[in-house]
Amino acid sequence: MQDATRAMEEAAQAAWWTKTDIHGVRQIAPGRWLYTCRNAGTLWPIGYCSVACHHATPEAAEWHYREYLLDSAQFGGCWAGKEYRCEVCRAWTDRFAILKSYVVHPLCPAHLNRDGLDVVVDHP
Ligand SMILES: [Zn+2]
Ligand SMILES: [Zn+2]
Repeated sequence: MQDATRAMEEAAQAAWWTKTDIHGVRQIAPGRWLYTCRNAGTLWPIGYCSVACHHATPEAAEWHYREYLLDSAQFGGCWAGKEYRCEVCRAWTDRFAILKSYVVHPLCPAHLNRDGLDVVVDHP
């Protein structure tokens, strides 16, 4: 009974988080852009962005965040019994990299590294 209540509370919390946890590039002052997360009315920089950043364009802030995604990516992913095309060379693979943004990129063993990911992660 108590466990069920807690599970419901956790589900409600997760739904609330998904709705309010909004990542994106934002202009925090005229001509000053940061990659940020906004939650419950509070805004803060995420990834490599910090309050010390002075990006003059949204693209510069997105590049900064992209560097963070590439550097923090996990390359140990493996699907059981499923294969997808490597996003670089189209070879079939059951391996994947996952970004801190929870985006998954199927990559063959030859491209399952930062260089391979650099090719497939969206450019600002
Ligand atoms: Zn930055
Ligand atoms: Zn490949």
